[in-house]
Amino acid sequence: MFRILFISIYAVFAGVRVYYRSQNLGRTSEKKYTQKTKAIIALMLAILGYFLVMGLWIVIPQTILLFQIALPLLIRWFGVGMAVIAIALTVWIHHTLGKQYSAKWEIQEGHKLITVGPYSRVRHPMYTTLNLFSLSVSLITANLLLILLAISVAIPFFWIARAEEEILIEQFGEDYLEYMNITGRFFPRFS
Ligand code: SAH
Repeated sequence: MFRILFISIYAVFAGVRVYYRSQNLGRTSEKKYTQKTKAIIALMLAILGYFLVMGLWIVIPQTILLFQIALPLLIRWFGVGMAVIAIALTVWIHHTLGKQYSAKWEIQEGHKLITVGPYSRVRHPMYTTLNLFSLSVSLITANLLLILLAISVAIPFFWIARAEEEILIEQFGEDYLEYMNITGRFFPRFS
């Protein structure tokens, strides 16, 4: 049953991401930046590892049985709940970021600085939610290897977010610096 839940939840999440990516196809960007190579390579490797193990867990789980841990059912259901919340948050975040969204570092024509909704208290809600999702779905599997790989996917985002902020400072100057003062990088700041 957890396998079916995992696949269904993943499919909905992938559908949401593909939908919002397709919304932004064909638009012209004003500036493109090369990505910090080391962080991107680390991220790609972690994601590749994650998908590989995920494939094994779905199709031939016997191969990674060794990593199966006795997670309490409650925790696996907690993973289901958090993954569903993460999907809802992803929709909200994409909807708020609108045409400013890009899978690459880009500044679009007429790019606006977004500081409302999920962006009012945290600067990288999409990265936080993405990692919340991959960690939550990994809990559903109760596979230690997948849980560790989900954590390793999160690490490169520390560099990625920092580099992205440099671009946004260059683009928005004082406005972004002020925005940094009142927000948290990955977690909401309430003071
Ligand atoms: N790091 C953000 C956005 C990811 S999408 C998050 O985790 O929510 C990446 C694109 O978003 C980049 O091309 C960047 O130019 C843009 N971006 C990031 N924060 C932004 C903001 N507050 N307002 C407008 N664009 C932003």
